Amino acid sequence: MSPHFPPAESPSAALSGISLRYPKGPVVLDGLDWQLLPGQVVGLLGRNGAGKTTLLETLLGLRAPDQGVVQVFGQHVQHLDDAARARIGYVPQQSDLFEAFTPAQLLAYFRSFYPRWNEAKVEGLMSRWDIARDKPIRKLSGGQKQRLSIIRALAHEPDLLVLDEPVASLDPAGRRDFLRELVGEVLDRGATVVFSTHILSDLERVAFNIAFLSQGRIALQAPLDELLEQVRAFTGSVTEMAALLTRLGAEPLKRTPLEAGRERVLARLPADTAVPAGVAADRVNLDDLFSELT
Ligand code: ADP
Repeated sequence: MSPHFPPAESPSAALSGISLRYPKGPVVLDGLDWQLLPGQVVGLLGRNGAGKTTLLETLLGLRAPDQGVVQVFGQHVQHLDDAARARIGYVPQQSDLFEAFTPAQLLAYFRSFYPRWNEAKVEGLMSRWDIARDKPIRKLSGGQKQRLSIIRALAHEPDLLVLDEPVASLDPAGRRDFLRELVGEVLDRGATVVFSTHILSDLERVAFNIAFLSQGRIALQAPLDELLEQVRAFTGSVTEMAALLTRLGAEPLKRTPLEAGRERVLARLPADTAVPAGVAADRVNLDDLFSELT
């Protein structure tokens, strides 16, 4: 059910060889490569503290990596021109700025910065998402503030929309539906959307692509339906496994040693490859992938 867009000639964002360590802190990004293409909706999945915020800030040029290069719309992110900047939308994890403004004042302020601004969309979302226009922002609920921040980021119709835990303040029931609506807002235009989460149910039927951040790298990125179809868990002796994976052309993702020279291997089959009869290959779900890959 993934929508189809023409083959992307150039990525919206490309990160290569990114390493970043906080002073006296942990190595957070460790030689990371990542590409985000037009028309892609990517859920960035990783445990708490894996580095999702750090990665998104690096992608946006808000944090300089120790090594590596970030390009957005083909330009070095530290030297983006105004036109490229205006094509980016960002919803930070939380911002306590503008608490004394009303939503109407906040939106008027931001409107002044952008050549492109879809007022009809803003008005529609303000009504649909039930945000008071003339109440100070500090009096809004956490969820309303988050929705307002998202409206602000959507208003100029960005081609690259980056959201850091965009539904963190929403109640569990509303999270997925809200995300789906949000993604629908941008998908029609072939924009790139990336949002981070550590909650698996956020991704179901929302993220067409999932990227797993683990040990400072994108361990795997693929459409969710493909992953569930292609990734299997095989168990056998180490020699059997080596032969089997070679025969199937499968890419090992994670090996777990078992007793007596056996191992469990999580591996990704090439597209349209059937598992031969007699070979035990367990299907995995998103929970399994998350716990094994992150
Ligand atoms: P996530 O968004 O996946 O929860 P973060 O990017 O916030 O992860 O953090 C990654 C790691 O870097 C964590 O171990 C965190 O404690 C550490 N960290 C984050 N920000 C800073 C900072 N400003 N200074 C030092 N360490 C930091």
